[in-house]
Amino acid sequence: MAGSDPAAAAGVAGTGATGGRRVVVVGAGMAGVQTAVALRDQGHTGPVVLIGAEPHQPYDRPPLSKALLLGTAEGSAFEVDFEALDVELRLGVEVSGLRPADRELDTEAGPVPYDVLVIATGAVPVTLPGSEGVPGVHLLRTLDDAERLRPVLADQHDVVVVGAGWIGAEFATAARGAGCAVTVVEAADRPLAGALPAEAAEPMAEWYEESGAQLLTGARVDRVEPGQVVLEDGRVLPAGAVVVGIGARPATGWLAGSGVDLGPDGAVLADDHLRTSVPDVYAVGDCASFPSARYGTRLLVHHWDNALQGPRTVAAAVAGAQARPYDPVPYFWSEQFGRFVQYAGHHASADTTVHRGDPADAGWAVAWLRDGALVALLAVGRPRDLAQGRRLIESGEPLDPALVADASVPLKSAVLT
Ligand SMILES: Cc1cc2nc3c(=O)[nH]c(=O)nc-3n(C[C@H](O)[C@H](O)[C@H](O)COP(=O)(O)OP(=O)(O)OC[C@H]3O[C@@H](n4cnc5c(N)ncnc54)[C@H](O)[C@@H]3O)c2cc1C
Repeated sequence: MAGSDPAAAAGVAGTGATGGRRVVVVGAGMAGVQTAVALRDQGHTGPVVLIGAEPHQPYDRPPLSKALLLGTAEGSAFEVDFEALDVELRLGVEVSGLRPADRELDTEAGPVPYDVLVIATGAVPVTLPGSEGVPGVHLLRTLDDAERLRPVLADQHDVVVVGAGWIGAEFATAARGAGCAVTVVEAADRPLAGALPAEAAEPMAEWYEESGAQLLTGARVDRVEPGQVVLEDGRVLPAGAVVVGIGARPATGWLAGSGVDLGPDGAVLADDHLRTSVPDVYAVGDCASFPSARYGTRLLVHHWDNALQGPRTVAAAVAGAQARPYDPVPYFWSEQFGRFVQYAGHHASADTTVHRGDPADAGWAVAWLRDGALVALLAVGRPRDLAQGRRLIESGEPLDPALVADASVPLKSAVLT
């Protein structure tokens, strides 16, 4: 399909009129695909071009560390009919630069003109220094990564996972399920140290042991050698494979020199309508941070729901509709060690923590209150709490902390009347 647009072939930009403007979306992941879909939903009639560096049909990432890894699903391609939507897909094309003065993108195949640009290039995993190129070292971000990991599980290698974050926990779950010996090395004193405070994350350490994985906290990797991982304290861990899950950073290097403002974390600094510092250029999904009036801070959210919701704001703005500022209650889920873990909202260390239920039980939750209202909720095996909590966070109604703490009372009944 590439090059089928005569305007593009001629290097001519679109009409510039609202409905007919040529929208180019860079990044064909969840946020990019949803932007294309939302543009059509909201009545944009002009050309839409979706460019993605990966050669595969656009796909969803959460199954990569779950069903796809376990072999219970074969693929996770989005069920979107791009042809029916009249969206031009250009796959296997990496965008290397942006020249706003010319309203053009640079690719190996030549320049691509745009009237409106949407940056949706997502994130790339952080690598472990010194481990690049060492045989048997893996990351888990792409379909190709997952395909490379499937034989590791099938052959039941001894696996060392570096990082007890979301990806590390989910990979460890799959690897234990496949019968691998699993050691997880974590520099902090608990799992998910970057995401959750100690009192919420501590019970999760036991899940590792219970599954038969060994969790080494306070342990730092000194170096990775073929077949083994050497820790700073001298311990040597045999490793048929090493999976590094130590975070991700926005994939925005290609914007250097473009004039699009980036934050210190590398994220595009979007405004509350997901506009960037450059006119007619928007940014959405894992690559962009936005100011949240709800939480009084700028948020960089690396979760699926944000890549689903943000595109609606972008599409409304492009289509010229009166869009409300983008200020979602962030939400994500994780499936690890046989548990369904969900989190909604955003909490700060000064917020009041209320425990709901016993972490020794199958279901429990932790709520965070600010000025008596719910600002965040972690729910383990309590999806109803999460659904009700999400609505309470949005409404901001004051709650009775004693009722919040009583797991036998529906969360919605804790509203003070
Ligand atoms: C293994 C895994 C499991 C996950 N599980 C969960 C979960 O259970 N729950 C949850 O809430 N979230 C989960 N997430 C997070 C969620 O998948 C992401 O937040 C979401 O994919 C972000 O979508 P995105 O479109 O912003 O970015 P991405 O999905 O990263 O897509 C960006 C796309 O842009 C392309 N691209 C990058 N640079 C360029 C360029 N210069 N030119 C052209 N194309 C480019 C990339 O190749 C990529 O395909 C998971 C993520 C991973 C990796």
